[in-house]
Amino acid sequence: SGDRVLMVQLISYNKRQRMLLTRDVTQIEKLETTRRDFVANVSHELRTPLTVLAGFLETLIEMPADALPQAQRDQYLRTMHEQAQRMQAIVADLLTLSTLESSPTTDPQPVGMPGLIRTALSQAEALSNGRHTLSSEIDPHLDVLGSGSELSSAISNLLINAVRYTPDGGKVTVRWHTEADGSARYSVTDTGIGIAAHHLPRLTERFYRVDRGRSRESGGTGLGLAIAKHIAMRHGAELEITSEVGRGSCFSLHFPRTRLTDGDRP
Ligand code: ADP
Repeated sequence: SGDRVLMVQLISYNKRQRMLLTRDVTQIEKLETTRRDFVANVSHELRTPLTVLAGFLETLIEMPADALPQAQRDQYLRTMHEQAQRMQAIVADLLTLSTLESSPTTDPQPVGMPGLIRTALSQAEALSNGRHTLSSEIDPHLDVLGSGSELSSAISNLLINAVRYTPDGGKVTVRWHTEADGSARYSVTDTGIGIAAHHLPRLTERFYRVDRGRSRESGGTGLGLAIAKHIAMRHGAELEITSEVGRGSCFSLHFPRTRLTDGDRP
C-alpha cells in the first residue's frame, strides 16, 4: 500500500483456525535497497578505471616493443597510473567511511581548529595554483572538542571541493567564527558553478554527483561529502549547504555551543 512494504503470512492451525500475520518491513526493505545500490555503485565506480587499465595493459603486452613509439608508451603508462590512483582514492575513501560508521567516537580533545584550517588552506592553495583568490577570517582562539584527524578531513574536503568547482578567477572564502547564539561555524563560500536546489538533499549520498564527468575529471571520488556529513554527525555538528547555480555555494559545519572548548564558552 503506497510506499509501505508489508509482509503477510497466513498460518493455518487446522481447517477452521487460521491466523493472518502482517509485518511492516518498509525499513528493512529500504535498508536492503540502499545496500544493493551501494554495492552496484562501488562495482561500477571501480569497473571504469579497471577497464581502462586492462585495455592499455593488453595493448602493451600484445604490441611488439619496437612498434610503439616511446612517447606513446609513456602516455599509456601515465594513463594507467592515473587509473590506478583513482581506484586507490576510491578504496581509501570507502575504508574511511566504513571506519567512521563502525568505530566508536574517540575521547573528545581540543583539536586546534585554527591550525587545521590553515593547513587545509595551504593544501587548497597548492591545488588552485594561483587560479583562485583564497581568503580567510579565522578566530584564532576558537576551538572545538573532537577528533583532529576526522575534522581535518572534513575541513579540507569542503575546501578542496570549493576550489574544484570554481572556475579560474573565482573566489573562495573560509570563515571560522562564533555566531550570535554562541555556536561556532566553519564555512567555505565560493563563487563557483553552484548547485540546483533539487540536487541539494541528495548531495551527501555516496557517489551522488551533479555532473559525473566533471567530478571524475577533477579527481573526485564522489564520497567526500558523505564522509564530511558522517564526521559532522560524530561531532554533534550539522553540515549545511546553500547554493545558487552560476553564483556559487556555501558549505558549512555548524557546531553547537556544547562542543566548544571551555575557554571559548562565555
Ligand atoms: P566529488 O568527489 O565528486 O567532489 P563530493 O561528495 O565531494 O564528491 O561532492 C558530491 C558532488 O557535490 C560533486 O560531484 C559536485 O557535483 C557537488 N559539489 C560539491 N561541492 C561543490 C561546490 N563547492 N560547488 C559546486 N558543486 C559542488
